[in-house]
Amino acid sequence: MGAGAGHGSVANRVAAPLLLAALVPMFFAIAAVAMLIASEDLALEALVVVVIGLLGGSLGAFIAWRRLRKEVDLPARALQEAAARLGAGEPVEQVGGAGAGPLAPVAAALGRAGAKVSDTTDRLMAQARWGEGSRRILDALDFARSDAQVNRVVSEALELVDDEHAGELLMSSAESSGTLESVAANRATGSPGCPVSTAGDCMAIRRGQVVITDSSEAINACPQLRGRPYGATSAVCVPVSIEGHGLGVIHTTGADRDPPNPVVVERLSELSRHLGARLASLHAIESSRAEASTDGLTGLPNRRSLEASLQQMLDSGRDFVAVLADLDKFKSLNDNFGHEAGDRALQLFARVMQDNVRGHDLVARVGGEEFVVAYPDMTVQGSIEAIERLRTGLASAVSVAAVQPFTCSFGVTHSAVGSSVGEILRVADAGLLRAKELGGDQVVYADQALAVEVFDNGEPPRPR
Ligand code: GH3
Ligand code: MG
Ligand code: MG
Repeated sequence: MGAGAGHGSVANRVAAPLLLAALVPMFFAIAAVAMLIASEDLALEALVVVVIGLLGGSLGAFIAWRRLRKEVDLPARALQEAAARLGAGEPVEQVGGAGAGPLAPVAAALGRAGAKVSDTTDRLMAQARWGEGSRRILDALDFARSDAQVNRVVSEALELVDDEHAGELLMSSAESSGTLESVAANRATGSPGCPVSTAGDCMAIRRGQVVITDSSEAINACPQLRGRPYGATSAVCVPVSIEGHGLGVIHTTGADRDPPNPVVVERLSELSRHLGARLASLHAIESSRAEASTDGLTGLPNRRSLEASLQQMLDSGRDFVAVLADLDKFKSLNDNFGHEAGDRALQLFARVMQDNVRGHDLVARVGGEEFVVAYPDMTVQGSIEAIERLRTGLASAVSVAAVQPFTCSFGVTHSAVGSSVGEILRVADAGLLRAKELGGDQVVYADQALAVEVFDNGEPPRPR
């Protein structure tokens, strides 16, 4: 449709009044001249005719001016203002003031363009806000040093992603043997309470892909969602995988048949990817730290880890009894029955030690066939009784296990004998040496005096 169709063009609409403005004065002027020629007495009447002609012409000019102002000037000004607002980045969704004249379609087109620009601007701003939020989430995940800290970040991240729908993170850990537990809930909206109990029961984890459920009562809905006490619901479930293993799920719900929108789904997927990567690197750090502090054969803490724990106790002023244990004639057990038999004996001894201490006692393998037990807050007398129980336990374990019989000697001392871990263990070592001198398979208490006697009377300290 052409501009101004149905109203005539502005030029046509001002043509008639303009013609009036031009012709009327001319017509009346000719009439006045004719009257003057006919009779000089008609001068007054001729003047009246001229005035009437001028008034008619002025009326035509006035009508033309009004039309031009209404149909060109005012709409043009409205368009100008709208264009200026658009240029300044302000939202322009409608351009008023263009009336129904020929500029109305231009105003409508500018209004549509303005609406589109505001829409795009809104979207870009939301994207920029999310980009900023996403960076903050990544930073926060990076700062998190434990699963508990990661879960706190997820709780806030779920709020950043979507503060309208309830959401939670369910994770399974190796210790929970596949059982899913809700470990974080959307900080703003809380947890929707997914009843799924194992990773195997979760469709999203099993398939390794996002599952969007329009209605929990639909025939293909996740069975876990069906028949919920608070009625039908929609849901989005995004699996979380750690190094390719589906170990968790982000679960959000919405009104029935109105699931969280695709933008939310995309952001939840992004969160899930960041989360999986962070948990993978945290677990890798954790396991390499555990590996570095654990003895591979027995699974006990190694010397480094033991010394750090004892140092911590010294630093906090906590007393303990240190017991150095060394298997008797272990070399001959190895030589006679093989290294594997020796390994089995070491493993059995480690198990017996663990079974015969309480929760806060420390057990470690500190060398080939040498172990340490530390009993915090215990008297030497109490520890000697505890070691006697350990020796009895060893004797009965050896008698029923498929290992060659063996015994063990123990050197015992109290942390008060020295101010450093090395000093305390050296005194315990003196007790151990004395136990060996006495034929092994016994417990000897050592103090500084015994250490001086054992080490400074010719016998050098044993290398560690
Ligand atoms: P003592 O009664 O005086 O303690 O004599 P011993 O034979 O136990 O002590 P010695 O220090 O002479 O020998 C320790 C042996 O322990 C030598 C080594 O082969 C063995 N051993 C050390 N580490 C391991 C291990 O990881 N596995 C096995 N099977 N044997 C080990
Ligand atoms: Mg030894
Ligand atoms: Mg030995």
